[in-house]
Amino acid sequence: MTEPIRVTVWGENVHEHEMPRVRELYPEGMHEAIAQGLRADLGERVQVRTATLQETEHGLTPEVLAATDVLTWWGHAAHEQVSDVVVDRVYQAVLAGMGLLVLHSGHLSKIFRRLMGTSCSLRWREADDREVVWTVNPGHPIAGGVPEVFIIPRQEMYGEYFDIPQPDELIFISSFTGGEVFRSGCCFYRAAGRVFYFSPGHETYPVYAQPEIRRVLANAVLWANRAGPRRAPTDMSFTPMGWFEGERS
Ligand code: ZN
Repeated sequence: MTEPIRVTVWGENVHEHEMPRVRELYPEGMHEAIAQGLRADLGERVQVRTATLQETEHGLTPEVLAATDVLTWWGHAAHEQVSDVVVDRVYQAVLAGMGLLVLHSGHLSKIFRRLMGTSCSLRWREADDREVVWTVNPGHPIAGGVPEVFIIPRQEMYGEYFDIPQPDELIFISSFTGGEVFRSGCCFYRAAGRVFYFSPGHETYPVYAQPEIRRVLANAVLWANRAGPRRAPTDMSFTPMGWFEGERS
């Protein structure tokens, strides 16, 4: 049997303590709901743990990251409280081959902005909106088993312009009742690492309980997991191999 993919689900874990509505929807925290979905959908293919902002080093010590194949990131209210040392550690781990799933308001997290190199800002409207998610890359592994189009009954509107680099692969776009559109599922390759941004997931709606959303996240974990050893992105030294020795006269 192949080794399970080691997933760390990171949660900011602030709204759950401050907003009764969020606590009601996610009594054990959004990170636990996301982790339980992955455990239920992927079974023995994954080994899932959680980490939160409040833990020492936000639960993302060098040891934890070295033992993480794919990290998921949900944050909103406390992006600036995430230590730069930890952000740099996550950044280096991604370049070396750790997968990263950035969820919803994580678009403004330090780690996502660092990996993108742009502001990552977008238009938004919090108004019990109806989001229609369209699959625009049905052959991609992240779209496997996901309907060509599905509805999230209640969501926050995220709209263009979304200030990111052009995605390496675009998997989903969304539309909203105001006519807005949004690139809601985007893949990026950064050195040896794979990054997937997925926008559905506002804290006051039960988005992470929806089967289509869970399917996307499970697929994304499998896609972002890069088999093989990590490579050190800083070790770029190279000695000529002597391939063309015979051509020299
Ligand atoms: Zn939100």
